[in-house]
Amino acid sequence: MLMNLNGDEDRRARALKALRSPDEYRDDVLRKFVRLASQALGIPGSFISVLDDEHQHVQAAHNFTLTQSSREDALCRHAVDSDSTVVVPDTLLDARFETHPLIIGAPHIRFYAGAPLKNKEGIVLGTLCVTDTAPHSFSAEQVTTLKLLAALVMSFLEAWHSAGFADPVTGLPNRQRLIRDLQYLAVSGDQTPRRLVLIDCINMPRAYELARSMGMGPVENLLRDMATLLPLRLRPAPGELFYTVATGRFAVLTRDDSPLSADWVAQRLEGISADLGDGIAVALSTHTGEVTFNPGELPAQESLRRAVSALHEAIAGGVPSMRFSQASDARHTQDFTLMNNLASALRQNTGLWLAYQPKICLHSGLPVGLEALVRWRHPLHGELSPALFVPLAEKTELLSELTAWVTDRAIDRLTRLRNSGIQLPVTVNVSSRDFASGDFANALEMKMSRAKLPTSLLGIECLETESIIENPAAMRGLEMLRLRGFGISLDDFGAGYSNVSYLKRMPLDVIKLDRTLINEISSDTASRIIARSIISMLKDLDYTVLAEGIEDAATAQALTEYGCDQAQGFFYSRPLPEAELDEWLSWKLRSQC
Ligand code: C2E
Ligand code: CA
Ligand code: CA
Repeated sequence: MLMNLNGDEDRRARALKALRSPDEYRDDVLRKFVRLASQALGIPGSFISVLDDEHQHVQAAHNFTLTQSSREDALCRHAVDSDSTVVVPDTLLDARFETHPLIIGAPHIRFYAGAPLKNKEGIVLGTLCVTDTAPHSFSAEQVTTLKLLAALVMSFLEAWHSAGFADPVTGLPNRQRLIRDLQYLAVSGDQTPRRLVLIDCINMPRAYELARSMGMGPVENLLRDMATLLPLRLRPAPGELFYTVATGRFAVLTRDDSPLSADWVAQRLEGISADLGDGIAVALSTHTGEVTFNPGELPAQESLRRAVSALHEAIAGGVPSMRFSQASDARHTQDFTLMNNLASALRQNTGLWLAYQPKICLHSGLPVGLEALVRWRHPLHGELSPALFVPLAEKTELLSELTAWVTDRAIDRLTRLRNSGIQLPVTVNVSSRDFASGDFANALEMKMSRAKLPTSLLGIECLETESIIENPAAMRGLEMLRLRGFGISLDDFGAGYSNVSYLKRMPLDVIKLDRTLINEISSDTASRIIARSIISMLKDLDYTVLAEGIEDAATAQALTEYGCDQAQGFFYSRPLPEAELDEWLSWKLRSQC
């Protein structure tokens, strides 16, 4: 039977459930409240009890040993049912309690004063009470104090539970709750070192792909299944809580000496699968990351950030688990800062500039083109090599901005060259991600036509043969560029693994031989043979062959003999800033006249 119900049954059940859910940190605060009640009222025993339909649960107590009783036996039910403060100065003098088991037997309650704990919705959930084995008088002022304390306890509990501390899908405590638990740990004075382990077992892009075809229902099933599976597999000790910190991402907060380490968790979860419903299971691959810390040593958000950093290291490195490392975290932060700086440099057009390296015809010795190479004069770090920042930009959306910036400057350079009566094509380096985006060739053609320049004057240098061939969008992009009349060069041929059979499937004009392929031909017979046969094969296939990284006359001489068409390298010229390029060109073209 439900008694004292001001709210509906459901709301009461929910409020009671929240209060009865295990929460070490909340109950620790409640214990402080009851101690305060005893001290403030001068009554040695005190407790907070929660009453459901059948039982009284003692949630926090001070000098009081009872943990549970039937609702019927609870003195507190009188306060709850009457929704008012109940004071019994001497139970033995009160006819209601003559045969009461908690009075004639342990804990021998002789004095009792209890104030109801009533929430904002008017639902009475339990009581705050003071009690003793001896009788007491209790003044009106004491009653007021008890009521005030009960109101304080209730405000605390409402604040604690109102913030939405559970994940609506998995039902597990959520990230806000984790932050709060970490914050509480920091101020609790508990010095036991802790460990926070993050667990990522669901490839979210794949899960959303799944949601696209099957709807969100199966994905939510999967998340719920994971939440059930985790404690079953990992068998946490009491007090080791699981959290849902993001969709598909879980956390467990443990003591540092707990067996639940990132490594162990990853091992235990290896090869698991989760249920989408209707008996469809998907295999999950788990990554974990952990951080250890002394409570109070780090702000809560920082502990979580470090665990995330470790987890991302594990994911990026393709390993099951990773501990937080200051060094790799610092590197990542540096990279991140650098990319922020690059974004500003691009938007404000400051610090970035292009160097141009001439390409020489091996037969005539004349310049046949220029390669634009990006440079960055960083406000703090000075001149930065593109090898340092281009690969980072390639992982972000900044890449297309960088490419647009480079092509705009290269087109400006072409315009200036034309205005001085020089017709030399300029090539720019682009990654396959650039031209895989549909509109790349059109946009580039538009830029050239606005500058009133033929597309043949702008060349594209690309890398990553295999990734282009395997990506239909990139292949289409490349073909579009070729159709629009842009020259296409394949960069770094011969560096690493080069599959010649791929070449013919790509629309290419120039093959650039990588420096590593030719830098030993003047001293090593085998290198000579390899370079010679590659050049002759590429010539048979009708490509223009350009050798990169020529640093001496002997190499240039040998390459000319092998039939190589063009060359580029320090032997002819280093990549030059604008002003030096003008000087170099006027010297070179004059001396050739
Ligand atoms: P890459 O396209 O293979 O460029 C040739 C690199 O070799 C350049 O390095 C150049 O300075 C260097 N080099 C030229 N001749 C010689 C030589 O004789 N000896 C030696 N040891 N090195 C020589 P850099 O400028 O540091 O560029 C490095 C890489 O960064 C480039 O390799 C290219 O892949 C990339 N990169 C440069 N600019 C851009 C750009 O605007 N966009 C993109 N996506 N990548 C770029
Ligand atoms: Ca290049
Ligand atoms: Ca190259």
